[in-house]
Amino acid sequence: MDAELLLAAVLGVPRARLLTLDDVPPEAADRFADLLDQRASRVPLQHLTGTAPFRHVELAVGPGVFVPRPETELIAGWVLDRIAGLAAPTVVDLGTGSGAIALSVANEHPGARVVAVERDAGAIEWTRHNAAVRAGAGDTPVEVFAGDMTDPGLLRALDGTVDVVVSNPPYVPDGARLPREVADHDPPLALWGGPDGLDVVRGLLVTAARLLRPGGWLGIEHADQQGSALPALVRGAGGWTDVADNPDLAGRPRYTTAQRAGHQAAT
Ligand code: GLN
Repeated sequence: MDAELLLAAVLGVPRARLLTLDDVPPEAADRFADLLDQRASRVPLQHLTGTAPFRHVELAVGPGVFVPRPETELIAGWVLDRIAGLAAPTVVDLGTGSGAIALSVANEHPGARVVAVERDAGAIEWTRHNAAVRAGAGDTPVEVFAGDMTDPGLLRALDGTVDVVVSNPPYVPDGARLPREVADHDPPLALWGGPDGLDVVRGLLVTAARLLRPGGWLGIEHADQQGSALPALVRGAGGWTDVADNPDLAGRPRYTTAQRAGHQAAT
């Protein structure tokens, strides 16, 4: 599969076209052989093609930014479900990386105001590039903001006004064994979350509680082994209702959701 995708990328054709291809020009064959060597030494496919598909958008990716994963598409869909009835909701994506979640929300809910926060100076270059590409393609522009999701001063002007806070934070427990594609090529800041993987999430919970309006929603992606620990952390923090965990398409525990307490029932 990866070989086919690399050959298709070299030739600039869709993968399905390979079936009807009669021959490959020598320069393309050389380029293909070089990419195969790199892939065999565990450079991520997406760094070699330069793009990663995510829902209905294509993100530019490469060294310095976390490659968006298919399992994260569901939490973006969950955000869209939460704001479906709102004409002009505000959504904040904390630790946006390539911008995958933020740009998908803007792409699929044009009325939304989407603020994307990234701390990593290298990664945010990719965020800004992808945001500019999507805006150029006609999507509602996403506001890209350099900042740390655990900073008590982050986005103060939005306190108590945000409809959904979403994050795919760094959550890998220190010392966990990762595939070489991840360990050697995704930015460490996007991966490592302290001894139990939840260090950044602890700070993120405080920020989300401050930013959300009463009745606003929080969604946080987590590791396979955190399907009980993260909901317990949210319950323990107080001020949240409807704390639930949600599986990904493979049936593995993947993201925790909760509603900010204190809202009046809708009339
Ligand atoms: N899911 C990622 C992995 O495959 C980790 C992502 C994260 O820490 N946010 O390693």
